[in-house]
Amino acid sequence: MSDCLFCKIIAGQIPAHKVYENDSVLAFLDIGPVSTGHTLVVPKQHAENLAAGSVEDACALMTAIHDLAPKITKAVGGSGYNLGMNHGEVAGQDVLHTHLHIMPRKDGEPRNFVKQPVSQEELSKVAEMIRLAI
Ligand code: AMP
Ligand code: ZN
Repeated sequence: MSDCLFCKIIAGQIPAHKVYENDSVLAFLDIGPVSTGHTLVVPKQHAENLAAGSVEDACALMTAIHDLAPKITKAVGGSGYNLGMNHGEVAGQDVLHTHLHIMPRKDGEPRNFVKQPVSQEELSKVAEMIRLAI
């Protein structure tokens, strides 16, 4: 979809801190992280939300989450994580391209859903740490 932010990231038209990809999904850091390592995993095929996409893409998304969430959490020194999906604008979905949030949690960081200020340099460092661990 030409006017979709995440499709543009997938196509490489907008920069992102990418940490993983396969034929079906792409994972990149959220630019407004609620925790260190906050990652978005998106199907490469555009759909507004999970229900609007194929069941194959839903399965590929969950397969990737199963693999990535523990690895990303470990890479940033976390010991647990929240998974989240806002489905529909009324539920707080701002970007209308299916995405699942992985939010690693570690001691000493606030355990809420408030975006923390972070520099591009810090995001680059975190992305590199995660790529090395995947
Ligand atoms: P949601 O509210 O579930 O639609 O989440 C959308 C997420 O996308 C928010 O957490 C934003 O911080 C994040 N976001 C917006 N623009 C970008 C971008 N260019 N790169 C990475 N993450 C983004
Ligand atoms: Zn899209």
